[in-house]
Amino acid sequence: MSALPSGRPWDPDAVASLQDERLRATMRRVASRHPYYRDLLRERGIDPDAVRGTADLPLLPLTGKADFAAAPERFRLEPTGDPADQLWDIAYTSGSTSTPTPIYQAAYDFHAILLAQRRMAEIRGMTSADRIANLYPLTPQPHGAWTRANHAAAALGASVVCGMSGATGWFGVSRRLPEVAELVVASDPTTLWGVPSYLRRVLDEVARQGGRLPSVRMLAVSGEPCTPETADVLAGLTRDLGAREVVVSNSLGASELQCGLVECEPGGGFHNPAPELFHIEAVDDDGRPCAPGTPGRLTLTHLDRRGTVLLRYLLGDVVTVDHGRCPHCGRGGGRVVAYHHRTGSATKVRGQLLDGQVLGRTVERVPGVLEHRATVRWTVPSDPLSGDELVVAVALTAGADAREVVPAVRTAVKRACRVTPLVEVATADEIFPADERMKPRRFLDERASANR
Ligand SMILES: [Zn+2]
Repeated sequence: MSALPSGRPWDPDAVASLQDERLRATMRRVASRHPYYRDLLRERGIDPDAVRGTADLPLLPLTGKADFAAAPERFRLEPTGDPADQLWDIAYTSGSTSTPTPIYQAAYDFHAILLAQRRMAEIRGMTSADRIANLYPLTPQPHGAWTRANHAAAALGASVVCGMSGATGWFGVSRRLPEVAELVVASDPTTLWGVPSYLRRVLDEVARQGGRLPSVRMLAVSGEPCTPETADVLAGLTRDLGAREVVVSNSLGASELQCGLVECEPGGGFHNPAPELFHIEAVDDDGRPCAPGTPGRLTLTHLDRRGTVLLRYLLGDVVTVDHGRCPHCGRGGGRVVAYHHRTGSATKVRGQLLDGQVLGRTVERVPGVLEHRATVRWTVPSDPLSGDELVVAVALTAGADAREVVPAVRTAVKRACRVTPLVEVATADEIFPADERMKPRRFLDERASANR
C-alpha cells in the first residue's frame, strides 16, 4: 500500500501497520545517512533494527527544538543522487519561539506535502470549486504558510488569489491592507485562509470600504490559537458582509509538518492529515507515551522523508492525542482532541506565576476589545530593582467606550491572573502592524531584553 485511500475513513489498524512499515524504512535511512541520528544511535548503542514500529519509539530519546536549531544541517539526510533526494525547497520555522531554522524538502518531500495539503482540504471540506484568498503574509524568509496555501490550491485544482501583505518592501511587490481588502472583494472568494487576527483586520477593512463578501463559506485559520469566541466574532463579521453559512475551520500548523492538523468539523479535534507521513504522540516529561486521555507534550516523527528528518521531535505544545477513530468522520491516524497550551508560556510577574495565554484569552473576551498586547517590564526601564509591572494595551472596537472597557479589562485580568495590570488604550495598528507582521505578538517580556 503506497498511501491511505481517499474518501474513505482510515482504519486505525491499517494506519498503524503502514506507519510501522514506514518507520522501519526511515530507521534504515537515518542509520546510514542522517548525521545527527546516526551519531546518536551509535553513541547510545541503540540498534536501529530494534525499532520495529511506533510502539518502539520510546527506545529513542526525544529531540528538542534547541537540538534541531543548533545544527539543522545535521538533521538532513545525505543525498544519494536519486532524483527523489534532490533539493526542492527550503522553508524556515517562523521564529516566534526560536531562531528561524531551515527545513529541507527533497523533491519526494514536496510531492508528499502536496498529498498532505490535498488531504487537509478533504478533511475540512475545501474543494476544487473553491476560490481561495491566501491572506498569509509574504515573509522575508520562505515560510510554509504563504507558500503551502498556494501549493494546496495547485494540488486541489482550486483558484487562489494572494493578499501579499509583507514587511520587506523589497521591489514594492507587497500590498497594504486597503489594497488587500479591495483585491479580496474583487476576487469574490469562497475561502479566506490566514491568521485569525489578520483575517479580522481584512474583514474590518472590507466593511470600512463598504465592500461585500457574499460567497465566503469558510474561514480557514492557523498560526495562533482561535478560541470559540474569536471564531464567532470572525463568522459574524463575515456574515455582516453578506455571507450566509460560514464555517471557521481551525488548524494546528507546524513548519516541521509543512501542513497542518485540521478539523473535520468545528471542535472535532485536529486530525493528522497524512498518517503515512507523520506519527504524532503525546508524551510525559520522561518521554513515555501518555495514557489515553492524558495531556502530554506533542511529539512528531517523520515516517517517509528524504530531506530534513525529525524523530520524536517536541513541537512545543501540550495536548491530548487520541489514536482511535474520530466519532465524527471515522478517520484514524491520530487527532489532537484537546489543545492545552504552548510549553513555557508562563512567567513570574510580581512573584505571581502568569500564563501569557490565559491572560490573552481573558483580555480577548472583554467586550469592546479589538486588539490587545501585554508587556511585562521593569517599572523603571533597565532597573530590575524597581520591580516589575504588567501593562495591557488594548485597541477598541468601533463605538466602544474606553471608560467602560479599561476598568473591565483591569478587573478581568486581576480575577483570572491575580496580577493587577496598568491598562492603556492604543490603536489597532500600534499593537498589530498588520502590513508588517505575520501575527501579533500578544505577550512581551521586556525584562529579558533589558538584562542583555
Ligand atoms: Zn473527524
